Amino acid sequence: MPNKNLALLTYGCQMNEYDSEKIGGILQGEGYQLTDNLEEAQLILVNTCCIREKAEQKFYSQLGRLAGLKKKNPSLAIGVGGCIAQREGKRIFERAPQVDLVFGTQNISRLPELLRQLRQGKGKVADVAQVKGEFVSPHIRRESTVKAWVTIMQGCNNFCSFCVVPYTRGPERSVPGEMILDEIRGLARQGYKEVTLLGQNVNAYGKDLVDEGAFPGLLSRVDDLDGIERIRFTTSHPKDLSEELMGAMARLAKVCEHIHLPVQAGSDSVLDRMNRRYTAGEYRAKIARLRALLPSIGISTDVIVGFPGESQEDYARTRELIEEVEYDSLFLFKYSARPETVAATLSDQVPEEVKQERFEEILALQKGITLRKNQELEGKRVEVLVEGASKKDPAKLTGRTRTHKIVNFRGPEGLVGHLVELEVIQGKLYSLEGRLALKEPR
Ligand code: SF4
Repeated sequence: MPNKNLALLTYGCQMNEYDSEKIGGILQGEGYQLTDNLEEAQLILVNTCCIREKAEQKFYSQLGRLAGLKKKNPSLAIGVGGCIAQREGKRIFERAPQVDLVFGTQNISRLPELLRQLRQGKGKVADVAQVKGEFVSPHIRRESTVKAWVTIMQGCNNFCSFCVVPYTRGPERSVPGEMILDEIRGLARQGYKEVTLLGQNVNAYGKDLVDEGAFPGLLSRVDDLDGIERIRFTTSHPKDLSEELMGAMARLAKVCEHIHLPVQAGSDSVLDRMNRRYTAGEYRAKIARLRALLPSIGISTDVIVGFPGESQEDYARTRELIEEVEYDSLFLFKYSARPETVAATLSDQVPEEVKQERFEEILALQKGITLRKNQELEGKRVEVLVEGASKKDPAKLTGRTRTHKIVNFRGPEGLVGHLVELEVIQGKLYSLEGRLALKEPR
C-alpha cells in the first residue's frame, strides 16, 4: 500500500464503538494513521451492526459509495467487521465484490495478520472463527481522555426472540476480574475519571467464571480503586437485576444513579413471545425498588413497537407503562424482522402503517415526559464531569450529571476532566443548560 491512512466507519452500539477504539489502537501500533477523509484512505474498515434492518440497509448503501471510491483508487482496500461480518462471513464477497477483507467480532486482534495476508495479494481474506477468551487489547485508541468504556463480558445467552446478538456475538464470556481491574487501574493512572462497564447483558457478569464474585462484587472492587470517580454499567437485563445489585448501586459512592433498563413492551403476552422472561409487574416492582433506594435515579429504556402479534390492547399496556414509569429517556424502535431469529418466523406481522402510528404516538408521549422532567431540574444543583467543548456550541463546555443528563455551560477549558457543581438554568428536550455554582472544581 502506498500509504497507511485508515478510515474507520462505525455503526451500532457502544460495544461496536469500543471495538473500533480497539481496531484503531491495534492498527496505529502497525503504523496506520487514522483519517476522517475517505478519499485519502488506503484502507477503509466498516464496523457493522445488524440489530435493526435499517442499520443493515445503511451499511449496504455505504458499501455502494465505497465501490465508487475503489473505482477511482484501485489500491484501496475495504474491510468489513462487526455483526454483519460475523453473520454473513464470506457471503459478503458475493454481494459486495468491492470488499477485500471480512473479520468477525472475535477476530480483531488478528487484524494485523489478516492485513498482511491481504497485502501478499493472494486474494480476499476472511476470518470469522469464534475465538474463546479474546478479551482485552493493550492497544486501545480511546475517543475521550475523561471517560472510558471497559468490556467486562461479551456475548449473550438470552436469545430474546427478536435479537441477533447471541448469533453474532456468541455465548456469554466474562473477562476475569483481575484483568478488568488492571485495565481500570491503568485508566486511572492516565487520568480517566469515569468508567462504563460494558456487556450485552452486563448484570449477568461472572455467571460463567469459577471462584469469581458476581457483578455486585465486581462493582465494589472497582469502587475501591483510587482515581476513578464515577462508575456506570450497561446494558442491564431486568431479569438479572437482583436485590443485591440494587443494594450495591445504593451503597457504592462511585456508582452513578442511572440505569438503562430495557423494558421492550408493557404487555405480558408480548414479553412472553419476546422471550424476555419477566412480566410487566415484575419490571414495575424493580423500578419501584430502585426508586426507593435511589430517589433521584435516572432511568432510560428501550421499547419496540409493532412486535409480531402486538394487538391494540398490547400496545395500550406499553403506553400505560411508559406513562407510569416516566422514563428520563427512551430509545424507540419499530420492530424489524432479523434473519435467524425466532420472531422473524412468526406469522402475524404488524402492518407498517400501524407500527408507524404507534411509533409516532410513543415518541410524542416520551418527548413530553422528558421535557417536563428536565424542566423540573431548573434551579437545582447537579454534579457534572466535564468532558470537553460542546459539539453544538464550541463556546460552551459539556458534561453529564450522575443521572446521565447532558449539561452545557460556559466555563474555562481548564475544567475539562474535573467534576464541577452547576446550577441548572434551563431544562430542554435533549440537554440541560447550566451555570457554575461553585468556583472550585474537584
Ligand atoms: S438480552 Fe436479549 S436483546 Fe439483549 S443482547 Fe441478549 S438476546 Fe439481545
